Amino acid sequence: MSVTLDLSRMAPQADAPKPLINLSGLTRPQMVAALTESGVVEHGKAKMRATQIFRWVHHRGITDFAQMSDVAKETRARLADSFTIARPEVVERQVSKDGTRKWLIRMAPGIEVETVYIPSVGRVGALCVSSQVGCTLNCSFCHTGTQALVRNLTAAEIVAQVQIAKDDLGEWPSDKDDRLLSNIVFMGMGEPLYNMGQVADAIEIISDNEGIAISRRRITVSTSGVVPQLEALGEKTQAMLAISLHATNDALRDVLVPLNKKYPLNQLMAGIRAYPGLSNARRVTFEYVMLKGVNDSPDEARALVKLIKGIPAKVNLIPFNPWPGTDYQCSDWAAIETFAAILNRAGYSSPIRTPRGRDILAACGQLKSESEKVRASAMRKLSMAAMAGVLDEDEDEAAA
Ligand code: SAH
Ligand code: SF4
Repeated sequence: MSVTLDLSRMAPQADAPKPLINLSGLTRPQMVAALTESGVVEHGKAKMRATQIFRWVHHRGITDFAQMSDVAKETRARLADSFTIARPEVVERQVSKDGTRKWLIRMAPGIEVETVYIPSVGRVGALCVSSQVGCTLNCSFCHTGTQALVRNLTAAEIVAQVQIAKDDLGEWPSDKDDRLLSNIVFMGMGEPLYNMGQVADAIEIISDNEGIAISRRRITVSTSGVVPQLEALGEKTQAMLAISLHATNDALRDVLVPLNKKYPLNQLMAGIRAYPGLSNARRVTFEYVMLKGVNDSPDEARALVKLIKGIPAKVNLIPFNPWPGTDYQCSDWAAIETFAAILNRAGYSSPIRTPRGRDILAACGQLKSESEKVRASAMRKLSMAAMAGVLDEDEDEAAA
């Protein structure tokens, strides 16, 4: 369901300048090919040159070819004729008292996304990135779902969200000790599995050891359940999987996550069980938004335990984050705790995290884009619980 514009048949405008390719969005093999094709680097030296440039861009974080001190001046000038390594514009930046940071990034005119950094206990922190502007799916409790898809983000635009966070957190060079940005979660706007190619390239770039080097097991992709793409996600990215489950029976999930009508629960659960690399050390996270009187009864908690039986999993309970116009309400705290206790007794870790970034109204998974001139900041309450399971993985590691 990805949106692709075939521009190849459009007549080029006579004097329109050729758009520059942003090298930040190319994997190392793609960079080798681009450098050779452009004629900037001769074939025999392309691999070495690509690694050198890749390190400048993703290890050092530079944004200007002039800073590549070990590349000949003439080569730098030729690089700048065909390519760019510039960042998109940060339109707004907010920092919460608790350390949560939020950036509104303008990728192109009318194409704006929000990216949120959530610090955790200890030194780790997660960056919540968007994969699309808007979403084609219409989950009934999701703010993004009320916005039509504007477009898929490119790999360069996904990587730029990480680069901008690192600029702001002072995380260059990438091998700096005690990194603040330790995890990436695809839980911002959009359905990542409907933009698989660009998401997979972005993950390859972000995890490359010559660059930002965030391990693939610290990168989590959250999906509403695009079953036919699950295997490809695991094979191509080896990323950690998060599933937006939210209901334990088809009748309710059809309403909450309408994609369920296409890929019902039996297909979804089979797809998850077959996810490449699933093990006790690499558990799937089930996200479950707590909706008052809708999916939050003890019976449903027990049904959930039954549904996920045998799957190496943790459950992430997300207090519903209300937005203007929604009929849903967040479950009472007591109901959430009872629900969590049933899961815990069955052996599942089910964190409910204290809301973060309340004062700057940062919300991950509920962002609705500036592109439609409706601010995500219209949201009054928020929950960063969507992150909790992911960050707990680190705590597990630390404890081990
Ligand atoms: N499209 C993907 C990833 C983005 S949504 C997906 O659906 O998984 C990230 C998470 O935020 C999902 O689990 C989603 O169900 C949840 N979410 C969306 N709107 C929410 C809201 N208003 N309150 C709490 N969680 C919400
Ligand atoms: Fe799209 Fe995810 Fe929101 Fe559903 S929950 S509408 S898939 S962003």
